[in-house]
Amino acid sequence: ASGYSLLRDPRHNKGLAFTEKERDAHYLSGLLPPVVLSQQLQEKKLMNSIRQYQLPIQKYMAMMELEERNERLFYKLLIDNVEELLPVVYTPTVGEACQKYGSIFRRPQGLYISLKEKGRVLDVLKNWPERSIQVIVVTDGERILGLGDLGCQCLPITIDVGTNNEKLLNDEFYIGLKQKRATGQEYSELLHEFMSAVKQCYGEKVLIQFEDFANHNAFELLAKYRTSHLVFNDDIQGTASVVLSGVVSALRVLGGSLADHKFLFLGAGEAGTGIAELIALEMSKRTNTPLEECRKRIYLVDSKGLIVKSRFESLQHFKQPWAHDHEPVKTLLEAVNALKPTVLIGASGMGKTFTKEVVEAMSSFNERPLIMALSNPTSQAECTAEEAYSWSKGKAIFASGSPFDPVEYEGKVFVPGQGNNAYIFPGFGLGVVMSGAIRVHDDMLLAASEALAEQVTDAEYEKGLIYPPFSKIRKISAEIAAKVAAKAYELGLASRLPRPANLVKYAESCMYSPVYRNYR
Ligand code: NAP
Ligand code: MN
Repeated sequence: ASGYSLLRDPRHNKGLAFTEKERDAHYLSGLLPPVVLSQQLQEKKLMNSIRQYQLPIQKYMAMMELEERNERLFYKLLIDNVEELLPVVYTPTVGEACQKYGSIFRRPQGLYISLKEKGRVLDVLKNWPERSIQVIVVTDGERILGLGDLGCQCLPITIDVGTNNEKLLNDEFYIGLKQKRATGQEYSELLHEFMSAVKQCYGEKVLIQFEDFANHNAFELLAKYRTSHLVFNDDIQGTASVVLSGVVSALRVLGGSLADHKFLFLGAGEAGTGIAELIALEMSKRTNTPLEECRKRIYLVDSKGLIVKSRFESLQHFKQPWAHDHEPVKTLLEAVNALKPTVLIGASGMGKTFTKEVVEAMSSFNERPLIMALSNPTSQAECTAEEAYSWSKGKAIFASGSPFDPVEYEGKVFVPGQGNNAYIFPGFGLGVVMSGAIRVHDDMLLAASEALAEQVTDAEYEKGLIYPPFSKIRKISAEIAAKVAAKAYELGLASRLPRPANLVKYAESCMYSPVYRNYR
């Protein structure tokens, strides 16, 4: 390739870090100013400039520009400054970026498969330049974070079946199909064609991660394809794994065993019922009790109140296992008072729903209530860290889906943990891919959960954390990957043989490195 095209290829471009030798050998002389910078210095310069921006969305756009220009430098920045930059490229800022995607759109990313491509999805996949694909993240954009229907969005594969978001339909800068969402047969046919084409194009071992589908499709797709494809729903399964991990790790502070606790959820959708089911499964394994018995320690509230037997007939099927014997209860506060849970988990997508009364009630009958406000982005959090600590008078153990700064309450500093599936999906995906697993099994989710919980140190507990800091995400991910892979081998689902002796080392060796390559 010519030097000129080398500079314009984000996979290869190193900018001013091209050495004299490389400039000579690859026809770059004269195309760059004379100075040669190290990757470290480039990183320092970019961090300085990103910190100049006032608005998070500007920082986001600067990061995206960098990704388009120099991929390795982008990942180097992200890895070395993960706690500072994750809130920029991920929740909460990514929420704003998704809402404004049409106006800030510069270049396409990944693939867009719309209803227009029906009947030729395989050809579309073949347009992608890369042949060996290991993971596909696919969305139909119907439930982005807690922000609802955002139509055609920025994830690697977007299935565009239209949008019911009026604002987008009327937005002249909207980049997706301008029609109402296809449903029913038309929808499932396109999805089925996609699932078949993926397998035909990339084989049996490509991991398909479903991301931010609405629950009426998410559960069905997972159930339909889990026995024929390698599928993982991040919102149902990844969230479940990360939250179970937080609960298990909080037991060290709360005391008692998992089965001694009583759980109440606000929100009974993908996240809520997914988490509830995995907690019940872990409880059942630990105590050798039937799953149905364990479910009875877990209650869920949806937009119509507590899920109870009398509502059974009218409940969506994924809520039905949670319809317990109890009189109807309308509000969360009433449910808290009636049930006296030890753990309160918010996955409603509705901000400000853990009110002062709710948090006070939780703290009135619990020495240390565990309160998790998981909804993203920050605007949708059920309560803030500050509210959780001050309303509970410092008693609450708190974690949230989007990050909150540490809070000082009566002279003590509380560091809120971030209960976000971002802890799980990188390591989980790596574990699946590196073992050549052909199916995802629930026990692999339990293994991921356990691996994450084991990473919390005593010093971190002291600060009130139930998750390790994100700065350790690469080590955490290697541990998770190793445990997930080990489980896949144990279950006979792994196809990469022989099994590597040291799975943690093997996981580390499979990880991406952002350090520049030498071009000889
Ligand atoms: P979902 O499937 O749409 O479920 C939302 C649930 O909340 C539904 O059961 C809904 O009730 C209920 N709900 C809505 N408003 C309510 C209210 N005012 N009072 C009581 N219940 C209410 O969505 P999801 O996939 O579970 O996601 C929910 C939230 O969790 C989102 O904000 C998402 O960002 C967050 N989340 C966080 C993480 C993380 O890692 N922290 C991971 C996944 C999801 P009905 O069923 O009656 O409509
Ligand atoms: Mn998601």
